[in-house]
Amino acid sequence: MKGKIIKGIAGFYYVHAGDALHSADGIYECKAKGVFRKDHRKPLVGDDVEMEVIDEAQKKGNITELLPRHSELIRPAVANVDQALVIFAICKPQPNFNLLDRFLIMMQQQDIPCIICFNKQDIDAEGKKEDYCSIYEQAGFQTITVSAREKEGIDRLKDLLRGKTTTVAGPSGVGKSSLVNCLQSGIVMETGSISEKIERGKHTTRHSELISIAPDTYILDTPGFSSLGLFGLEKEQLAGYYPEFVPFEKYCRFGGCSHISEPVCGVKDAVAEGEISRTRYENYCLLYEELKSQRKY
Ligand code: GDP
Ligand code: ZN
Repeated sequence: MKGKIIKGIAGFYYVHAGDALHSADGIYECKAKGVFRKDHRKPLVGDDVEMEVIDEAQKKGNITELLPRHSELIRPAVANVDQALVIFAICKPQPNFNLLDRFLIMMQQQDIPCIICFNKQDIDAEGKKEDYCSIYEQAGFQTITVSAREKEGIDRLKDLLRGKTTTVAGPSGVGKSSLVNCLQSGIVMETGSISEKIERGKHTTRHSELISIAPDTYILDTPGFSSLGLFGLEKEQLAGYYPEFVPFEKYCRFGGCSHISEPVCGVKDAVAEGEISRTRYENYCLLYEELKSQRKY
């Protein structure tokens, strides 16, 4: 039987098999027993597996084979993620675009396409919604606005998630939990196993867990973040993570132009002409300076 690992706790893997969306059926508490262990391959949340049922009543089984992964995220450690959904609020709190750009860079480094979701569209914010979306659409990213409170845009959001595994991230306070609840509404996913109950009772570490929200559709709710470091990135590479710069770089006088202090720079001209968002460009400059000083020490 085929299934997907939705959670791993203390040597147990919880495997979601079949389409058990509206019942407690279909989640098996498994141990890794397959020959793959001989190759030191370790199951990850998100892995598609072959499993055998040992005890149907107790929902216990063994993972016998790990199926090939098409992607592997490092932070958080999860396999087969298709895309990321990053949530910010239109206001309350004001979006931190520097943080958003850092997140986008991190996902681009891992080749994960990103959807930017602005929540709290029910709050009247004087055209900010359109402004924010256009900044990022101009940069080539997909955006969506929703209201978790008023349940607006939820069906459109579900359409973007359908058939995929999506990691969901955002700083705290933006309404991520509310939105995850909307996506999950009406769906019961209980494992009911003993070790799970013990784990719940302890309220200790948060584990990455995939939540099934529709057939073949999973979301990974990740903890809120307030800062993100830029790892493994040289300042010369930064412009490559600003896709909207690319068409204008041919007008730069120098190859390898940093688009900061060089004379005759196509990117700076495009910012002046409004063809590249000033917000994005200013964040680029800040991040560039940060990478420059990082290397000094
Ligand atoms: P999280 O920290 O990102 O998980 O955010 P929560 O889901 O806990 O929500 C943070 C606050 O924002 C709570 O007071 C929510 O009631 C509020 N909130 C969440 N979604 C919306 C929304 O769509 N509109 C408005 N006005 N408030 C919202
Ligand atoms: Zn330039």
